[in-house]
Amino acid sequence: MSKPMNPVYAGLPTTIFETMSRLAREHQAVNLGQGFPDDPGAEDIRARAAEALVSGWNQYPPMMGIPELRQAAAAHFAHHQGLVFDPDSEIMVTSGATEALAGALFSLINPGDEVVLFQPMYDAYLPLVLRAGGIPKFVTLRPPHWRFTAEDLAAAFSPRTKLVLFNDPLNPAGTVCPLEDLSMLAHFCMANDAIAVCDEVWEHVVFDGIRHQSLIGLPGMRERVVKISSAGKIFSLTGWKVGIVMAAPPLMRVLAKAHQFLTFTTPPNLQAAVAFGLGKEDSFFDAMRADFQQARDYLAGGLEDLGFPVLNSRGTYFLNIDIAPLGETDDAAFCQRLVAEHGVAAIPVSAFYAEDPVRTVVRLCFAKRRSTLDAALERMAGVVGRA
Ligand code: PMP
Ligand code: GLN
Repeated sequence: MSKPMNPVYAGLPTTIFETMSRLAREHQAVNLGQGFPDDPGAEDIRARAAEALVSGWNQYPPMMGIPELRQAAAAHFAHHQGLVFDPDSEIMVTSGATEALAGALFSLINPGDEVVLFQPMYDAYLPLVLRAGGIPKFVTLRPPHWRFTAEDLAAAFSPRTKLVLFNDPLNPAGTVCPLEDLSMLAHFCMANDAIAVCDEVWEHVVFDGIRHQSLIGLPGMRERVVKISSAGKIFSLTGWKVGIVMAAPPLMRVLAKAHQFLTFTTPPNLQAAVAFGLGKEDSFFDAMRADFQQARDYLAGGLEDLGFPVLNSRGTYFLNIDIAPLGETDDAAFCQRLVAEHGVAAIPVSAFYAEDPVRTVVRLCFAKRRSTLDAALERMAGVVGRA
């Protein structure tokens, strides 16, 4: 074929998650790279999916999602976040948050529109924005606090800003945006008449007693935010691609048009199981957070004992280590050595930047059993000559 393929995709490398998982398999490494838990996930939720698969309806469910799931999502977000959505006109089920992001960006961006992105950013964002014809304007966040200032926002926003894509809690930083920063972002959205697409897939995975606060709940934001959630993260069943999108009807109407021609619908048995799971008692979500928090503390403590500087993690499955004090200047090279010579897969955080990357931070997934974390720590000891 001599005709050029689309340059956005033709020029892309394989994702860092796939690359590191492949290297992990090749080197029989402990995989703390791609974010997924060791544990199989709640058995009753999986049993619901199995039951619905065998005994339930397996033909096309309604395009917007099965009514039970939309109603369960409305009840869930009212209970957990004090947000009220109409299940008929303000909630849509997609095949994962990834589809929801693609649909939102494709249906809301016009070619030439400016789009504000915060880097480090989840790797799917930029290609989707570029494919939609958006012009990216970056706000660059740096360790250890990964926060933005009013000057940062003033430099990125303009009256041409159509949309801001905002991830909170933030993967890969593991931070939760403080309310004062959220309020500042809301102010910039309103002042520039911009829509905020909020990737909140990690909303339940927050620690130290933090409660997630969605931008859509801030004064003046209800009509201009698209909130995106993911059952894969809410229930730690990352292979279950079930996303939930919430937005006011004028936005939802156009989001639904994108969804109808991306996937149209999502497997009905998974929807039924997610509807069941969303109704679980508070103790289920509290226990999930407590388990991950313990794992975070265990890995962080073990790494600190070995002499690795650990950055604070307040949410997600991830913590970061700062490799600069070890004399390292290239996170990608460090991760290559870590997997090939020491048998631990991790993610170089520079992979989440489009320009001017931070090159001395490495992301590790702690959503693992003790035995996995112990194996990783034992191998990491070799990196600092302590094996
Ligand atoms: N956004 C972020 C920030 C993520 O970390 C992930 C996956 N871990 C996704 C989106 C994708 O979610 P899903 O698997 O529901 O498509
Ligand atoms: N969200 C997962 C992570 O950050 C990876 C998802 C993927 O592999 N695309 O590790």
